[in-house]
Amino acid sequence: MPTFTYMCNSCNKIFEKQLSFKEYDTISVLCECGSNDLQRDFQADVATVVESQKTVGSLANKNTSRMSDDEKESINRKNNAYLNKEFTGKLPEGAKTFEKKNGKRVL
Ligand SMILES: [Zn+2]
Repeated sequence: MPTFTYMCNSCNKIFEKQLSFKEYDTISVLCECGSNDLQRDFQADVATVVESQKTVGSLANKNTSRMSDDEKESINRKNNAYLNKEFTGKLPEGAKTFEKKNGKRVL
């Protein structure tokens, strides 16, 4: 259920209310002081939504869902380049030893 942030014009209190969109349309919200002279604090609500999407996983999912398979494949190859025995570049953080397995290096 979405959270709506309200600002009371009578006592300046800012409070949140969880309402379904149907309730939002039909229920009249009152402040603790009894006033219904409220205004929505849209900025606070936008900040809440952005914050909740800020995990790396959700951003990664958002990014990969926009990529074509070719793009994904090329990134995958780049990220796993160190597994090839010809690889002479810098190893990823924490990777110190390799063993050979089917002609490929594994961590
Ligand atoms: Zn109030």
